Amino acid sequence: MNTRWGRWAKRSRAAAVCGLSAFLLAAGASDAAQAVPKPRSYYESTGEVIWEVPVGEKVIALTFDDGPDPKDTSQILDLLQQYHAKATFFIMGRKAKEHPEIVKREALEGHEIANHTYTHPVLVRCSAKQIQEEISKTQNILAETAGVRPVLFRPPEGFFDARVLEATKAHGLKTVLWSWHHPTDDWSRPGVGHIVRGALGDVRNGDIILFHDYVHGPTQTIAALRQILPKLTEDGYRFVTVSELLRDKAQENPAERMGAQQ
Ligand SMILES: [Zn+2]
Repeated sequence: MNTRWGRWAKRSRAAAVCGLSAFLLAAGASDAAQAVPKPRSYYESTGEVIWEVPVGEKVIALTFDDGPDPKDTSQILDLLQQYHAKATFFIMGRKAKEHPEIVKREALEGHEIANHTYTHPVLVRCSAKQIQEEISKTQNILAETAGVRPVLFRPPEGFFDARVLEATKAHGLKTVLWSWHHPTDDWSRPGVGHIVRGALGDVRNGDIILFHDYVHGPTQTIAALRQILPKLTEDGYRFVTVSELLRDKAQENPAERMGAQQ
């Protein structure tokens, strides 16, 4: 289980005030065990953390981390608009402060604004106080900028522990990771084809696909989206926010219960 977590975790790209990179975390089993105290199935059963939200409808949640970026985010927003796609942006508070106009545009165009910490540290290497600060500073800046208080949180590089979950719950945040069967790896610029294959392979209703609207170096994500968006649209998928996926699931549940009784 630990190796799987490590394999899919992203490596450090942004400045981390109190974290070592996930590469180092993944290198030692004891470190990984500390980062992930319980198996994925446990967190899924409690609903504390979500990786995807299986639903009956043909809907997909596209998610973008590490922005806003003045160049890449704007182009991604243009593209999403073209395909009537709503996405979820997991935003770094520090960057939101630098580029509030982009966060405002995201909110105005119906995308979901979500918390991705202030400085992007690996939280399992931070003190409880630092974790709390990273989350609350970002909540405040996003609420101020977008006019809506985020309800979703994604820990940098996907690493969390009990303290992280405690802090997110205290802020009314749900922790969202991503569908592991969509390894886009776009942060590492692995080639447009790799990103496209990662997104389009084994698509299931309610998948949450991970992308980045900021990467170190020239992005390949936008070129990949130019192929991914038309293909999934053609296949009948609609692009919704993660909160919309969760609402869809909640609406489906009563029907499922009724079905079970019949
Ligand atoms: Zn990130």
